[in-house]
Amino acid sequence: MVRRGPRSGLYSIVAIHSTVRGPALGGCRMWTYHDARAAVRDALRLSRAMTAKSAVADLPLGGGKGVVMLPSAGPPLDPDRRRAALLDFGDTVDSLGGRYVTAEDVGTSDADMEVIAERTEHVAGLSLERGGSGDPSASTALGVAAAIRVTGERAWGSPSLVGRRIAVLGVGHVGARLARLLAGEGARLVLADVDPAKRVLAEELRAGWAAPADALTAEVDLVAPCALGGVLDHDSVPTLRCRAVAGAANNQLAADDVAALLQARGIVWAPDFVANAGGIINIAVELEAAGYDPARARARVLGIGDTLREVFAVADANATTPLAAAMELAGRRLGADRGAGPGAARIPGV
Ligand code: NAD
Repeated sequence: MVRRGPRSGLYSIVAIHSTVRGPALGGCRMWTYHDARAAVRDALRLSRAMTAKSAVADLPLGGGKGVVMLPSAGPPLDPDRRRAALLDFGDTVDSLGGRYVTAEDVGTSDADMEVIAERTEHVAGLSLERGGSGDPSASTALGVAAAIRVTGERAWGSPSLVGRRIAVLGVGHVGARLARLLAGEGARLVLADVDPAKRVLAEELRAGWAAPADALTAEVDLVAPCALGGVLDHDSVPTLRCRAVAGAANNQLAADDVAALLQARGIVWAPDFVANAGGIINIAVELEAAGYDPARARARVLGIGDTLREVFAVADANATTPLAAAMELAGRRLGADRGAGPGAARIPGV
């Protein structure tokens, strides 16, 4: 659905890729695009990824995504126009009658969700004070740590991180929390970020500090990409000196065929949409009839370890990459929900 907001004059876009497993959940991205077609393409691509992420995590949710398209020129939105854009987006969400549920994403915050909630009840990720699940980063970091332990089982035969060298690339909301968890488990860390102010965390955790490009190619047991996507491509993978890669960043592979390149080099890769599902798993608990409960959410998030083990088992059974295995697992779960039988569904393209 593409609508021009009557208050803000900005495009609100909602893409619903699948509601087979439940309402299509996906964040609202506030971003600048060259033109509206690019914004629609982004919403469609991201909504498809959400279908796969929720299906592989076995959540009763479909895949969707929202975009508020910011003006490509001129100053940033003033607070009034920003509020107007959020209210317009809320009306668009509401018009879909619950088939799409929105949440935070790049460019939006939990405070923005409160504004959207003035126009629709189909919002998740509200603050803890409002009965929501709050900032998803802690759950995302918890899930990534679980994924790293299972990746360790496969790469070096043990989930223990004591003495393991791990490079965390990007120490923002998720990366900083992950670094604390890993340090607590006895890992020897190298941290990297484009923001030099993050170096204080390295000092606090007695970790090393490196430039991002050096951290990616450091001789470590595992690299955890927790900044932007696209870090693994045909140029970077041949230069890696780690045994495994598992992190929070979305879209770590510049292209799907990079998964085979990693496999050929003997580097274990935990598919990003499996490892980083902690945030959405946490939000899914908020949508359950019993309401949000931190202990239940924590247990579900730690289940990412079992999901990843299953992904690796499917990869072994089919002699394929973890990426192909995770997509197959997601497709199986979608197929079973359609009554089509196991293995019958592929995640359809857009
Ligand atoms: P964030 O913006 O808080 O942190 C990103 C950090 O990376 C910042 O400190 C930034 O300075 C740094 N950075 C940016 N470019 C870099 C580069 N080229 N090299 C090294 N560091 C760089 O974001 P976040 O919420 O921590 O999310 C991190 C990643 O995880 C993103 O890809 C996001 O899409 C993904 N993710 C986040 C969540 C969540 O719950 N926040 C959930 C799923 C996936």
